[in-house]
Amino acid sequence: MKLTDDVRFVRGIGPKKAELLHKLGIDTLADAVQCYPRGYEDRTAVVPIFELLDGEKFCVHAIVGAQPKTAHIRKGMDVTNCRVYDKTGLLSLRFFNNKYAASVLEVGKEYAFYGKVQAEGRQFVMIAPEFEPVQAKEKTGRILPLYPLTAGLHQTDFYKITDAALAALPENYPDFLPEAIRKQQQFPPLGQALHSMHRPQTLEQAQQARKRMAFEELFLLACGMKFLRTGRADKKGAHLRDLSLREFYRVLPFSLTGAQQRAIEACTMDIAEGKPLSRLIQGDVGSGKTMVAAALCYLAAKNGKQAVMMAPTELLARQHMETLQPILHKLGISCGLLVSAMRAKEKREIVDEISSGKLSVIIGTHAVLSEHVQFCDLALAVVDEQHRFGVNQRAALTEKGENVHLLVMSATPIPRTLALLIYGDLDVSIIDELPPGRQKIKTYAVGEQTRPRIDRFIDNQCAAGGQAYVVCPLVEDSEATDTQRHSAEQTAQRLKTVLPHRRIGLVHGRTKTAEKEQIMRDFADGNLDILVSTTVIEVGVNVPNATLMVVENADCFGMSQLHQLRGRVGRGSRQSFCIFYGADKGADARERLRTLVHTGDGFAIAQKDLEMRGAGDFFGTRQHGLPPLKLADLAGDARLLEQAQQAADALMARDPQLKTAPLLRQRIVRLFEQHGEGSFN
Ligand code: ADP
Ligand code: MG
Repeated sequence: MKLTDDVRFVRGIGPKKAELLHKLGIDTLADAVQCYPRGYEDRTAVVPIFELLDGEKFCVHAIVGAQPKTAHIRKGMDVTNCRVYDKTGLLSLRFFNNKYAASVLEVGKEYAFYGKVQAEGRQFVMIAPEFEPVQAKEKTGRILPLYPLTAGLHQTDFYKITDAALAALPENYPDFLPEAIRKQQQFPPLGQALHSMHRPQTLEQAQQARKRMAFEELFLLACGMKFLRTGRADKKGAHLRDLSLREFYRVLPFSLTGAQQRAIEACTMDIAEGKPLSRLIQGDVGSGKTMVAAALCYLAAKNGKQAVMMAPTELLARQHMETLQPILHKLGISCGLLVSAMRAKEKREIVDEISSGKLSVIIGTHAVLSEHVQFCDLALAVVDEQHRFGVNQRAALTEKGENVHLLVMSATPIPRTLALLIYGDLDVSIIDELPPGRQKIKTYAVGEQTRPRIDRFIDNQCAAGGQAYVVCPLVEDSEATDTQRHSAEQTAQRLKTVLPHRRIGLVHGRTKTAEKEQIMRDFADGNLDILVSTTVIEVGVNVPNATLMVVENADCFGMSQLHQLRGRVGRGSRQSFCIFYGADKGADARERLRTLVHTGDGFAIAQKDLEMRGAGDFFGTRQHGLPPLKLADLAGDARLLEQAQQAADALMARDPQLKTAPLLRQRIVRLFEQHGEGSFN
């Protein structure tokens, strides 16, 4: 067979199984090669019966001592027992509803058995062992790869397709990892590594192969991020002659913090150098990133060009509009909003005004990416809450004009090692200072027994003129796999009963967009006292009058996410509070919540989160718009990440267009194409 052949044609894989494999993204033998084992079972060691231990899996070589006996225990349950022995002792085997086993085993013959051993009184029983003649070495006497399973597929199916794939693997299977780097890292050639991944002789060999493949993954990503950048670095940035911000500062209702000013200066310096600005503004929630964007939008408009600002939700886009419009208006700059939910006529008008250049600053959702939207002279693209967008979406936005400057804003603090990779294509400015007058949010981690007090506390905050958010992990009760988790619907119901005099709103992922917008606006306008929701409100919402955040089942959320939620309050001058339920959910939960109670520093929290949970949650398309990693674990493989990063740096410095590594270039383009809708040049 050839690597391009469909798995359907592998012996023993029919159309039905092929269908299931296709669902897993395994169409051809080449895909099967890429389907790595999730772990291995070491069945190489043969253990004498005398040395068996309770509760573990072992492989023994033993002779069948007597004819297996089957007993009918109850309806639908037959148990077959069989005694076997080796030189060191006796062992019972037990099979359930498996007459087949009994019929195959021959008295006096030696077999290899593999299974979990249980102590029963003074003897050991092996439960439902797998077995084969000792010479066979298919199920025992080797390292068995364990593939990720799905209903309807068995390990044996994966053995079949990977066997066929490995057999089809040509000697010189094209490797995108440059030879020099492979040698320098002392990695085996690709074909050999793939054989070791799927059919290792030893665990060390599997480990070596995994390391190579993980390196490759990180290297590809690191090169990809750099490549995205060099694509821009060759270009010039749009020329903005007048970079004075005096007028802008004059119309602002407050003076900017030092950190805000430094971030703006870093941007204007990049622009002044004639480079395309490619900068990430990272700042904790509420640090005032929007004003940095506003300053740059002003500069673009002042120089007769256009700026676009893209936010992940309609609500946020509207909020930005409400913040920026009055300021820009005073400066004589026209500003328009474009979101998907607008009426067609209204949308058409805006789109026309964008293409004619009548509008200088456009604020919107991903609607601005639409091919219908054409700018007259776009000079600046701002992407807010970047982690909600794909890398390629931000690339697509900059392609809406020539030499477009790019400003990216994110409140998700990321430990340094990860930031290097994730934002490898951007310069970074950090806003590490909150606007003056902010009070520390008083945070409490509580258990169920405190509920009546918290209910009264919610009521008191509302009575004092404040407002409260209550965030739940689920939308409705029926979703609950365990009944311990609170749903937004049930929580809203309960609060309506406990606090009948309070105006309570409910939004979650299934609320219709228009309705959601209305409820959020009611809350922002003070027409609601309490907003019960799922994490839909996590990002960027600004309601300065809200003074209380209550999170149900806080133990179900990541620490950085909880920190984000907490950032929804404490935006006004009044003392704000945050209550996390879940302190009674075990030591682990308690430690995580305690960290949040004691620190308000998003970076410290992110670091702790990474240590406690691993990098999985920081990664993947959802969090950062990057393709998910199959093998590499960013926390565990930090050293490997560094090496991959260095190798990528060295290569890209020598050959920024990757002319010497066409395969790598091709893989990079494919990588970003596969994981997002935007385009990639
Ligand atoms: P984030 O960084 O989370 O996007 P925002 O830009 O939404 O923060 O700002 C949060 C709040 O702080 C807004 O209400 C904004 O008007 C206000 N703000 C921003 N900068 C300052 C400042 N220098 N002084 C006072 N208030 C500010
Ligand atoms: Mg913001």
